[in-house]
Amino acid sequence: MPSPREPLEASDAPAVERLEEPAGPDAADAGADGVRRAATVLHRVFGYESFRGLQEEIISHVIGGGDALVLMPTGGGKSLCYQIPALVRPGTGVVISPLIALMQDQVQALRQLGIRADFLNSTQDSGTRHVVEQQFKAGELDVLYLAPERLRSPGTLELLSSSRISVFAIDEAHCVSQWGHDFRPDYLELQVLHERWPDVPRIALTATATGATRDEIAIRLRLDGAKLFVSSFDRPNIQYRIVPKNEAKKQLLQFLRADHSWGTGHAGDAGIVYCLSRDSTEKVAAFLSDNGIPALPYHAGLDPGLRAANQARFLREDGLVMVATIAFGMGIDKPDVRFVAHLDMPRSVEGYYQETGRAGRDGQPATAWLAYGLADVVQQRRLIDSSDGSLAHRRLMASHLDAMLGLCETTDCRRSQLLAYFSERAVACGNCDTCLNPPQTWDGTVPAQKLLSTIVRLDRERDQRYGAGQVIDILLGKKTPKVVDQGHHDLKTFGIGLELNESQWRGVVRQLLAQGLLAVQGEYQTLAITEAAGEVLRGQRAVTLRQDMPQPRGARSRSASSSAAPGSAAAGAAKPAAADLSPDQEAVFEKLRAWRGAAAKEQGVPAYVVFHDATLRSIAVAAPATLRDLAGISGVGESKLAKYGEAILELLLSTT
Ligand code: ADP
Ligand code: ZN
Repeated sequence: MPSPREPLEASDAPAVERLEEPAGPDAADAGADGVRRAATVLHRVFGYESFRGLQEEIISHVIGGGDALVLMPTGGGKSLCYQIPALVRPGTGVVISPLIALMQDQVQALRQLGIRADFLNSTQDSGTRHVVEQQFKAGELDVLYLAPERLRSPGTLELLSSSRISVFAIDEAHCVSQWGHDFRPDYLELQVLHERWPDVPRIALTATATGATRDEIAIRLRLDGAKLFVSSFDRPNIQYRIVPKNEAKKQLLQFLRADHSWGTGHAGDAGIVYCLSRDSTEKVAAFLSDNGIPALPYHAGLDPGLRAANQARFLREDGLVMVATIAFGMGIDKPDVRFVAHLDMPRSVEGYYQETGRAGRDGQPATAWLAYGLADVVQQRRLIDSSDGSLAHRRLMASHLDAMLGLCETTDCRRSQLLAYFSERAVACGNCDTCLNPPQTWDGTVPAQKLLSTIVRLDRERDQRYGAGQVIDILLGKKTPKVVDQGHHDLKTFGIGLELNESQWRGVVRQLLAQGLLAVQGEYQTLAITEAAGEVLRGQRAVTLRQDMPQPRGARSRSASSSAAPGSAAAGAAKPAAADLSPDQEAVFEKLRAWRGAAAKEQGVPAYVVFHDATLRSIAVAAPATLRDLAGISGVGESKLAKYGEAILELLLSTT
């Protein structure tokens, strides 16, 4: 990899003309001027047509000198919110980021746009650091990325005082939260920015959506006067699908290969597969590779060199699948991850949202797919019960798990339920499995009563508790050694559940857990009924179950009423722009991709840093004949036009 200093594409001149002075007494004028300049930078430097969502408001607020706390989902476009103010206001924009491994890529992406960017972190030798520091002092940088731990050294504060700063951006601001899992003690030091540079606007950004974290960020970073910008956390281009798990690896393979019931599969796509254990990441990666799908494992126990190499390959190469524990992910800003698959159930809805959110940052269609089963629930309960945390902490974890289970078993729109978790209201989306293929439900009151009463009998008559396996064996009338040994074939409910098979009974157990009618308890994770189950046993409450498999004989089925049918008004609204290409355009797109791969390799940068898929797709469709036409395509700014324009036109000419 070339050193960060070598391929300095940016000229030494600033990319844009800046505001003369920060907004002072004539703030209104400067504000209007700032907005105008922000729009110019958006078009000329980034090559984008218009701002997205709250970007314009946020950018004009920060350009005007205001502090901001920005909550925006992954892929929402947070970076522009500080990059543009950094370019428009006088001085260097200082970006605090914990993602040291990504700084090099981020800096290279900015340089491709003609922006003078660099970084300071512990991976550099002192010589390189010195060069960067000199440039900063000379005011020759538009953007400087800084690792938070550098602020601990007095030298850094001195350095920052030696030149003009346009804005402080605090990325991944939730790292200041002591309750989150990404806590970085160095983030607590960031208060110093406000004390030493009260006049420099600060913008803190995070994709973490919970209100508690937001409040904690504001307090700990002393952002009391900051304006809060909260975007919708919807990710309309992500299609959510959750399936009952039976043969996980086979199901994964089927999901990845062309899957006709859902349109195209994900053959050849880059994606992430999450597993709970280190061991299974290695096994699944080997399994996929054996089946012709290039895949790499990633977990915290892997040799650090290999782990870094696998991550670098995933970021740089097209079409690799990363099979990882959740140690992989924060700040993976690869825009073209086309799917995130979970082979185990995440511990919370928040975790599920963050992990699936790594798909489709570029706004193009992507899939979040999860396979989960009863064993997941039992395993997670065991983890919680055996954790060292306080009772309050374990209760909190259990409530997170219950919410996750509810999402898995819902018959309503997954997206609406997901957003409701973040206190956002939404209509049925038309782009999740329950909307596209409304689940059938059936009246499961009688099977539920049979199952619950078996558990009650075991408890009351024998003072015994068992897990799902034994209870189901009793219902199915199986005279296993364990059943006979315990005399369970004498129970009144022995053999009364023949209308369902074993996997259907497991589905019933799962759903009764999700509905709070059953609980798993104790060291051995045995089943117990809850208070609410009493109503079912007394016939005062009906139980509606979601149909995973063919319904049992005799049960009447009906469609879940609250889901939107495909093609309804709500459906389609969330659908991203069609990415369909004609066969000819597809061929051009593939050629452009190959060209991009070579161009990226030559410069030692990830392919997406050269152009995103979406831009290449638009080029394939528009088939521009002149540089001027090419400049009109989203994602083609002035710097990239000058650098790659001719090569692209030539390639297009040679293919027609
Ligand atoms: P985040 O940091 O919020 O996850 P990014 O800043 O990485 O998101 O932006 C996600 C993607 O959207 C990037 O590829 C970015 O270039 C693109 N993007 C951001 N803003 C715009 C815009 N106004 N128009 C077009 N593309 C945009
Ligand atoms: Zn939906």
